[in-house]
Amino acid sequence: MTFAIVTDTPEFLSDLGDVARIFFGDVTVTGEAEGAQRLYRHTAICEDGDWTDIWRHDGNSETVQSRAEGHPLQVKRLRKRAVKLGLYRLLKRETGLKPPWGALTGIRPTRLLYEGMEAGLSRDEAVERVIEAYDVSPDRARMLGEISQMQEGLLHPAPDEFDLYIGIPFCTTRCSYCSFASGEIGDGRLVEPYVNALLREIALTGEMIRARGLRLRAGYIGGGTPTAIPTQALERVLRAAQREFPGAKEWTVEAGRPDTIDEENLTMLRHCGVDRISVNPQTFHDETLRRIGRAHSAERTVEAFELARALGFDHINMDLIAALPGETADMFAQSVRRAIELSPESVTVHTLAVKRSSRLHESLVVHGDDGQARAFNDTAMQMVQFAREALTQAGWRPYYLYRQKYMAGNGENVGYAKAGKACLYNIGNMEETASVLALGAGAITKWLFDREIQSAARGVDVEAVRFANLQLRIERAPNVRNIEQYIDRVDEMVARKRALILPGGEAV
Ligand code: SF4
Repeated sequence: MTFAIVTDTPEFLSDLGDVARIFFGDVTVTGEAEGAQRLYRHTAICEDGDWTDIWRHDGNSETVQSRAEGHPLQVKRLRKRAVKLGLYRLLKRETGLKPPWGALTGIRPTRLLYEGMEAGLSRDEAVERVIEAYDVSPDRARMLGEISQMQEGLLHPAPDEFDLYIGIPFCTTRCSYCSFASGEIGDGRLVEPYVNALLREIALTGEMIRARGLRLRAGYIGGGTPTAIPTQALERVLRAAQREFPGAKEWTVEAGRPDTIDEENLTMLRHCGVDRISVNPQTFHDETLRRIGRAHSAERTVEAFELARALGFDHINMDLIAALPGETADMFAQSVRRAIELSPESVTVHTLAVKRSSRLHESLVVHGDDGQARAFNDTAMQMVQFAREALTQAGWRPYYLYRQKYMAGNGENVGYAKAGKACLYNIGNMEETASVLALGAGAITKWLFDREIQSAARGVDVEAVRFANLQLRIERAPNVRNIEQYIDRVDEMVARKRALILPGGEAV
């Protein structure tokens, strides 16, 4: 469907498109009226900083009054919020839908809760504010409150700490929903040159980190599937990283695909002091696993999990995905129950995100219709609701959450953990409270600056804190995604990081 938004504030067109997608899924949004299947018109009137935004469509209208003053950045933020809210209310009235995350389109809803708390609101008051200001469902807003409790004391690393991500972009086969920088391992000819390039990046960034006197807090090897490469190759990477960045409080390796897990690689991980691994079922239904292109059975997942337990791993994470193609709510519930029986220390419940770069996008989005999309979204919501109730009743608590574009049912990804088993890396990375040095193809280094601005605003008011957070600078240094290019250009990737980490000694 083509959705036209003719607006007096075209600078917000992309954000308004995100609001339309809350209700209509992956629609094409344009600022031109011609040829559109739905046409929304927006008029903005200003008198001395008092704004009136009027939205119209098909005889319906919605008006929002607001005031925007102060620093230009602050004015822009307040204006964007008012303009989006008008369209959100009109679409909500027209469709009769009640989106679980209300008018929120961002990745990190927890941030809104923290802004309230940093401005002096109690946790409960901050939850209420999220409900009132953004129309978030009480159930989701309360989950944000619970997450903030689980994150207490884990959110901010010490000033001289950073987290580390290392990407191994190889998998045995490609999942149909995958949009990561990962390739099929094939004949394995790229593994050796890739590992050599990675070792070079590890060594050169290790020098930078020592020069800055920084310490590693949490290390994470992900991908791809790190255990898809030969054990000796993975061991070289892990040992080099631990030599260059010693003393981590936590090491995670995303073993991920059960078909790549064996006694040899698990034993090596134990010897290297890896304390947390992922064994990811995604679903416990073999027909779905086949449909999504995973080369393992549900039984193989259980075997890999039990092997890891027998070898002494006492922190295992399991990923599940809600709304996989062909799955009913009952099938998903069975998978959740099976995961609970196995009792991993943490369970991450993803909601399928049908990204444009995935094979699934073609079949579900391009060839789907509105009715199918709505049924699909309703089922996805039931599934995540079931997972939340079942897991919390069984003793897991939500400890981090993020949202993505194009998620089924406007849902969320939630990490649940047993007491004391929250993953530091996941919290710091998802909440963007830790600088992350990221190595390997497609990895994106995120470095935090000006943290003092945040604390200076504490206890002022919600808008001031939000404004301060806007100014909190997070700079990124992305590595190229293509594996061969990464191998050829690794020194250039290192130079990008040097400009970020070593320029004037101001980082972190
Ligand atoms: S295991 Fe992960 S990275 Fe590998 S193909 Fe599947 S979704 Fe992509």
